[in-house]
Amino acid sequence: MKVLVVVERKGTELRRVSLELAAKATELGDTSVVEIGGERYSPLPFVSALVKKVQSDAPDLVLLGATQSGRDLGARLAARLGRAYAADVTDIAASGGSLEITRPMYAGKVRARMRVPLPAVVSVRPGAIPLRDAAPVPQVTRIEADAAVEQLTFAKFAAVASGGKRVSLAEARVVVSGGRGLKGPENWNLVEQLADALGGAVGASRAVTDAGWRPNEEQVGQTGKTVTPDLYVALGISGAIQHLAGMTSSKVIVAVNKDPDADIFKVADYGVVADVFEFVPAFTEAVKKVRAG
Ligand SMILES: Cc1cc2nc3c(=O)[nH]c(=O)nc-3n(C[C@H](O)[C@H](O)[C@H](O)COP(=O)(O)OP(=O)(O)OC[C@H]3O[C@@H](n4cnc5c(N)ncnc54)[C@H](O)[C@@H]3O)c2cc1C
Repeated sequence: MKVLVVVERKGTELRRVSLELAAKATELGDTSVVEIGGERYSPLPFVSALVKKVQSDAPDLVLLGATQSGRDLGARLAARLGRAYAADVTDIAASGGSLEITRPMYAGKVRARMRVPLPAVVSVRPGAIPLRDAAPVPQVTRIEADAAVEQLTFAKFAAVASGGKRVSLAEARVVVSGGRGLKGPENWNLVEQLADALGGAVGASRAVTDAGWRPNEEQVGQTGKTVTPDLYVALGISGAIQHLAGMTSSKVIVAVNKDPDADIFKVADYGVVADVFEFVPAFTEAVKKVRAG
């Protein structure tokens, strides 16, 4: 099978999801890796350039990250070429002349297994494919975005203040999220200190972002970010289905809630029935000790 991987960069580095895609692609077949050059993602110039590349290389499968731009680009590419499209996939395997993919459906309540005919376009959820620590950096061919077809005029770029030294939420291997159980923004140092001790990113439930305790960019869930870290820690979060939609693909889920019947415990691998204000400071200290060796 011929596989074309479309990679993205954050600054000068390839995004982790791009390395994950490249690793998966080499398992599936004969891989080439392409990056679309252009100042910033813009749908028409990017899809136009990618359509030409796919028409000339004729890959059986195009893999993109299920990132904000990857989802958009993948859908447009599939529509332009009349190819099958599977979005937000969490597992993918070759099966005869087609693909067998797994993807969450109904806000993460079920995982659907589907057979997708080739040629196809597939976007894969960041963090879904395991990556070895020393995964090789693929050789990347750069093509230029097709500026001639641009119809948008760029006005300005407003960078959102991120958590400084912290990793970005979507790609973090550890996420510590806080909910209404934290009682107010003044208590977020508890969430941040645990996130820092674990080397992770900070997330929040929608109750928290709606209340203005934390910025919208930190919201995890159906109408927020989907995260797939190795470890997700939910502090004072009830486990509403809309929150679960954004985090149940995490590999290990730890929940701390004082209500033993909270729904979050239904998806947690480790559940702690406790008051966050008592448990979290002690837990953070214990983590620091362990990590200090
Ligand atoms: C269309 C739609 C989209 C939505 N999208 C999202 C989304 O993307 N993300 C999202 O998160 N929500 C989303 N929601 C909202 C969702 O339904 C819930 O209202 C929200 O997730 C609840 O947030 P919470 O768990 O922080 O608050 P609550 O449900 O109020 O839960 C607080 C929890 O904290 C516990 N608690 C209280 N005090 C303590 C303490 N001292 N120690 C330990 N535990 C304590 C309580 O037992 C409780 O379980 C959406 C809703 C709708 C209708």
